[in-house]
Amino acid sequence: MKKLPASQALVDDLVAASRILAQHEVLDAYGHVSARSDRRPDRFIMSRSRAPALVSAADLMELDADSEARAGDKRKGFIERYIHGEIYRARPEVMAVVHSHSPSVIPFGVTRTRLRPLYHMGSFLWSGAPVWDIRKLREENDLLVRDRPLGRALAEALGQRNCVLMRGHGMTVIGASIPEAVFRAIYTEMNARLQLQATQLEGPIEFLSDEEGRRSTVSNAGTIERPWELWKKRALGRR
Ligand SMILES: [Zn+2]
Repeated sequence: MKKLPASQALVDDLVAASRILAQHEVLDAYGHVSARSDRRPDRFIMSRSRAPALVSAADLMELDADSEARAGDKRKGFIERYIHGEIYRARPEVMAVVHSHSPSVIPFGVTRTRLRPLYHMGSFLWSGAPVWDIRKLREENDLLVRDRPLGRALAEALGQRNCVLMRGHGMTVIGASIPEAVFRAIYTEMNARLQLQATQLEGPIEFLSDEEGRRSTVSNAGTIERPWELWKKRALGRR
């Protein structure tokens, strides 16, 4: 294996992130997490095509700005790696990306009901969770973001927000660090589940205001080490 342009801490966190997201059932055999290289910001690190629960450091690949593997690395990458590469290109401050098919999010991609922050853990959704419809760009599609133009269109739909839903497919979230992207993927799923439950009770639902969302997002960022330590310990069974 060629040496990755990344610190050992980033490699450890990325492996942990894969397993944590699988444990939380945000990822199953599908979906993936990546991180921008902390040594070469024009590159990112991502597992080869493999179920996230099984990922180890040896599975990680270095991908270039066009989401292609280094010459000589013949391992099979994820088809949808272009989601990650095009978001890193469009958003220089983004350090990690999670793409998942987490189930509670799906209804919000196929109906008129918007996914909105219902409680403080989902507060990062204050900036919106627009729905991207692949069909608008490509009538003949298989729902997968399988090339750069599709990745670019998804990154444009995400804009400056933290989350984008994908019609009939799933969602993608970003973070300023691996723990933050993992946190957001887990709590996007939970917020969606709670919003579906709340719609069965007497409404209207009281969502967070934009100001509450903004403030709570900052507060959560300040305590992210606490869940991260717990999740990592559980996922790796050590430390
Ligand atoms: Zn997908």
